[in-house]
Amino acid sequence: MPLIAGTPTRLHAVPILEDNYVWLLVDGGRAVAVDPGRAEPVLARLDGLGATLSAILVTHHHGDHVGGIDGLRRAFPAARVYGPADPRLPAIDRIVAEGDAVGLPEVGLTLAVLEVPGHTLSHVAYVGNGLLFCGDTLFSAGCGRLFEGTPAQMLQSLDRLGALPDATLVCCGHEYTLANLAFAAAAEPGNRDVMRRIEAVSALRASGQPSLPSTLAAERLFNPFLRTDQAQVRATLQSVRGLSAEAGRAEAFAALREWKDGFRG
Ligand code: ZN
Ligand code: FE
Repeated sequence: MPLIAGTPTRLHAVPILEDNYVWLLVDGGRAVAVDPGRAEPVLARLDGLGATLSAILVTHHHGDHVGGIDGLRRAFPAARVYGPADPRLPAIDRIVAEGDAVGLPEVGLTLAVLEVPGHTLSHVAYVGNGLLFCGDTLFSAGCGRLFEGTPAQMLQSLDRLGALPDATLVCCGHEYTLANLAFAAAAEPGNRDVMRRIEAVSALRASGQPSLPSTLAAERLFNPFLRTDQAQVRATLQSVRGLSAEAGRAEAFAALREWKDGFRG
């Protein structure tokens, strides 16, 4: 797995449940986990690496992202847990909010907190050292469902993530990439980068490897939810979803997200 630039730290994607990933940052004997939806697979990986867990970062309250916190705390009582203020989250030691810096000296990183409402209202992302942990906000070739936020909120959140540097590694919560790409191909039939990405990801998945992390430069080429201003995406939304030619950005984004909600490739 990739080495994080400027640090001795490696990034690991631990698959859990059907299609979630727990992200692990590991420097020698110390590790930080992001969105541990289950404890056992994380404990097994830490054991294999000979690492102890010193911190947990949480992006949002859904069970597939927080279900392992209690089990990990039992194994590593000194681990600090960071997450947004939301009574639906299990006990958090350090509440984080927009602009906070989360110091993780054990893995040589400091991550900034971005509030990115849309999938849920209290969803946060962690960004720094060329890494983005975005939970269920931005996926490779897709974005999270709007369970709580409005399309305008999610669009603003994605605009912020989409403005991060090209080389940023996108570490999201789910392996939804191939299904997302099938939708991307429908939204933007002439986009060759979508076709290339389908080939590359199919090969990775066939050999049991994650399609993640992706990069923001790549996402900007084929993720339709970062491309709602593109003429072809707008044209498809007009012909397939009846979007008006005068529709604003939030309206176009809402039409794309609603189409995806009912899309069966
Ligand atoms: Zn979620
Ligand atoms: Fe999730």
